[in-house]
Order: sequence, then C-alpha cells, then structure tokens
Amino acid sequence: MAELIPFDDRDGTIWFNGKMMPWRDAQTHILCHGLHYASSVFEGERVYDGRIFKLREHSERLIHSAEILDMKIPYTAKELDDVCNAVVKENGLSYGYVRPVAWRGSEQMAISAQQTTIHVAIACWEVPKYFFPKGGEDQGIALLTSDWRRPDPTTVPVQSKAAGVYMIGTIAKHKADRSGYDDVLMLDYKGRVAESSGSNIFFITKDGGLKTPVPECFLNGITRQTVIQMASEMNIPLEVCTIMPDEINDFVECFVTGTAAEITAVGKIDDKEFPVGPVTKRIQEAYRELVHNPS
Ligand code: PMP
Repeated sequence: MAELIPFDDRDGTIWFNGKMMPWRDAQTHILCHGLHYASSVFEGERVYDGRIFKLREHSERLIHSAEILDMKIPYTAKELDDVCNAVVKENGLSYGYVRPVAWRGSEQMAISAQQTTIHVAIACWEVPKYFFPKGGEDQGIALLTSDWRRPDPTTVPVQSKAAGVYMIGTIAKHKADRSGYDDVLMLDYKGRVAESSGSNIFFITKDGGLKTPVPECFLNGITRQTVIQMASEMNIPLEVCTIMPDEINDFVECFVTGTAAEITAVGKIDDKEFPVGPVTKRIQEAYRELVHNPS
C-alpha cells in the first residue's frame, strides 16, 4: 500500500476563520458540534493552470449547502472566491484540489445549536494534473452495485454537500475496495440508478445519445451540469430520465463525472463490461479543453 501522508502533518498554509496560518496550526477542539452532530458542509474544487475551475459555482454551493443545514456562512460568494484564490496563490499551486469547509463550533453540545459560531477554513493541496483510473485510461473503472442506497430526499438533505451524507458513500466504497472494485454504483431508495460514491453517472445508448438519471436523491454535480451543457453544444442528444438497473445491459458506454473524477470512463458495472468508446473519449477531450480554456 502507498505510504499515507496524514493531512494534519503537512507543509503549507491554510486559511482559517479570516487568517492565513501555518498548516499544522489549523486546529479545532474535539468538543465541536461539527464533529459530534455532522453540522459540516464542504466543497471540492480543482485547480488547472493555477486557476480554480467553476469557482463561483462552488462558492455558491457551499453557501447553499450550509443554508440547507440552517447554517449561515459569514462570507459572500465573492469573498469565498477571493480567499480560495489567495490560498491557491499562497501555496503556489498550479494543479490541485481546494477544500473549503464550514462547521458549527463548540458553544453548544446539543442537537439544537443556534448559538454556535460558524467556522470556515480553506485548504488546498497538489493532485495529479489528470485523474486516471487504476486500470489505466484505456480500461476505465469497475463499479460494484452497492446495497446502500441514496435516500428519500425528504429524509436527508441530499442537495447539500454535507459531511453526514458521505457516511453511506464511505461504507459502500469500503465494500467495493475489498471486493476488488474501484467504486460503487448506488441506486436510490426506489431502486433507480442514482450515482457513484462521489461522482454522477452517464450512459451512452446504442444510437450514440447520452442518458443520465434525474438528480432527485443525489447531488446535482457541477461537472454533471457542465457535461449536459457541453453535450448540447456538441449536438449529442441527451436525456435526463429514470434509469433502472436492468437497462444497464443495453448501454454501450458509461462514464462518471465529478470535480475530482473529471470524466472517468467506466469499464465495468458488476459483470457487465463497457469499452472506453468514442463518445466518452469525445466528452473527455472536450472537458479537458474547457478546464484549460474556460470562457
Ligand atoms: N455526487 C457526490 C456524492 C459527490 O461527492 C460529488 C463530488 N462533489 C459529485 C456527485 C459530483 O459533483 P461535482 O461535479 O460538483 O464535483
């Protein structure tokens, strides 16, 4: 196994509640509402050529994720944009990942927590220029259908990028890891195809069109929205619709989308294999072009 470099013991600068500080000094107390009650929301952004792709969309989503959890982030989207850019610059990052996070502090240790301070921190670190699946770019990743499902949106705030929503992804993905798969395919509580643990999913039909599920029980990813826009500009027909697991056998290609995953080809779902085909490659190429030359 590759050596792990713990995230609390690195060099660099983190912005924490209004101040730049040395990486190792960005600490919070163990009696903090965010840790005990999952009152925490975060973002994941990618830096290309020293610029954060879709930064405003991410800053707005952080604010919106917090609002859904009844938390008011004490910064505007513009202020968050400025700080994210400053952190990237301070750390001299050209290709990397930015992680803004907001959480409730320590003033109250109870379910109701209206008097707690909302803390905000932003860190960033280097990641490879592009993400390639373990099996290599030609093969795509293997997904295992999980027993864990995306929940009814009236029971969990699924449109919030909230820490608590990720517990299902972590336990689902651990099983996939142990079974030799790269990630999971998650269905929703009604048994419809939903997404992966940290990315949205698209299929290509026999006639070359795209199909992707309706984001009712899962995050409507910024990359997903970007691909929908790109498909329209590239005149690739696209349908946002209910997809049942028994339809998967009829699709000819598949890929997942996410800020970290970018456009990652799927080579296999359970026993069904997919080639990394021409439509996936076209979209990958167009996305690569876009992140380097955003309009
Ligand atoms: N679904 C989940 C559960 C995710 O964590 C992510 C990554 N944020 C996505 C989808 C894709 O979202 P985005 O394209 O905005 O990164």
